[in-house]
Amino acid sequence: MEFGRGQNLFGCIVRTEKEKRLMLNSKLANVGTSIFTEMTLLAKKNNAINLSQGFPEFETPDYLKQAVTEAINSGKNQYPPSAGIPELLDEIAKLIKRQYDFKLTGSENITITSGATEALFVALQLVVSKGDEVIIFDPAYDAYEPVVELAGGKCVHIGLDAPNYKVDWSLVEKNINKKTKVIVINSPHNPTGTLLNRDDMLALEKIVLKHELYLISDEVYEFITFDGEQHESVLRYPKLFERSFVVSSFGKTFHCTGWKMGYCTAPTEFTKEFRKLHQFVTFTTSTPNQYGLIEMLKHQPQHIGELSTFYQEKRDYLVNALKDSKFKILPAKGTYFLLADYSEISDLNDKDFCYWLAEEIGVAAVPLSPFYPEGYVDKVIRLCFAKYEETLDKAAEKLCGL
Ligand code: PMP
Ligand code: GLN
Repeated sequence: MEFGRGQNLFGCIVRTEKEKRLMLNSKLANVGTSIFTEMTLLAKKNNAINLSQGFPEFETPDYLKQAVTEAINSGKNQYPPSAGIPELLDEIAKLIKRQYDFKLTGSENITITSGATEALFVALQLVVSKGDEVIIFDPAYDAYEPVVELAGGKCVHIGLDAPNYKVDWSLVEKNINKKTKVIVINSPHNPTGTLLNRDDMLALEKIVLKHELYLISDEVYEFITFDGEQHESVLRYPKLFERSFVVSSFGKTFHCTGWKMGYCTAPTEFTKEFRKLHQFVTFTTSTPNQYGLIEMLKHQPQHIGELSTFYQEKRDYLVNALKDSKFKILPAKGTYFLLADYSEISDLNDKDFCYWLAEEIGVAAVPLSPFYPEGYVDKVIRLCFAKYEETLDKAAEKLCGL
């Protein structure tokens, strides 16, 4: 029998005294590599069609790329103001007024961040202190819990069940105690593609106000909703907004996830605190990209208006291409993800099934169990349909063969 270097008989890692002295006492002992990174690496290794990590296959709009290039070439390459270029903040305020009929002031309520991830980090660090409890809904995106734990808080997980993944607000109420400080919501929801409706928002508002909680609302897919459904942004609920941080991302909206451009919208006093910490996380966010986004928001407003139709066609295309497969497709009302139940195909657990799918069949998907740290049994995987029809066809052909 062979052992790896530094491993004992049971496969445990054995460290020398010097190695131990040099080790960090991990603040995130339970955290590994994100499932999105893991599955994209697996797709590359196996040359599989990558419907796993969520990113669009399409190019960033030419108009936006040119505007950023022009900003670079005209010397707009030094630090912008920490909170963001004022003109961009104003354009976002106008977008919020058009979209949600809510009047805000760019200079007081909006801060540009390095992706939604930074905004989530800063907002959670601001509101969570040692011993606080934060309510999150499983399946939950992976960027919430580690940040809560870093701040000394604890997540209380409330499960959303297949196939509708509805929030049971009476269960939320039951889970609130003196330690409860924050609720985190995400609509349109990654990975289930469900939306919170008006009744959900009114129930949420009642709970947040009654218990004087804070709300962090992850709305990165706000412009991708289907079948005529309206996105119920917190920005449509002024009283709820008074206790909220609303997190947005340009990455999803303008097919530029790699630029890591996002923003946080919050009441004036929250924004002041948000900006204090933002200064020491990134200080500010890429100047030429901000200039490009000003031009895009000013001169290409139709892009946002057309996004839902664009992605609805993709969703319908993939659903149709899989209609003769043994997968049972769950309804998706927003985002660029579809859930597929594979229980008629395999008894493997979801992670093993995804490995088998990538290695043997040549399609990479995301298992749902990493979104459920409290345990998961369903046979459901996530497919990203932000891809050209040609890619979806190739993947569907393989999936229909199962
Ligand atoms: N929240 C959710 C629900 C997401 O799916 C993502 C990324 N895909 C993010 C936040 C992070 O967005 P960004 O890339 O702008 O940091
Ligand atoms: N949010 C993307 C997804 O859900 C991935 C982003 C990331 O890789 N961190 O797939």
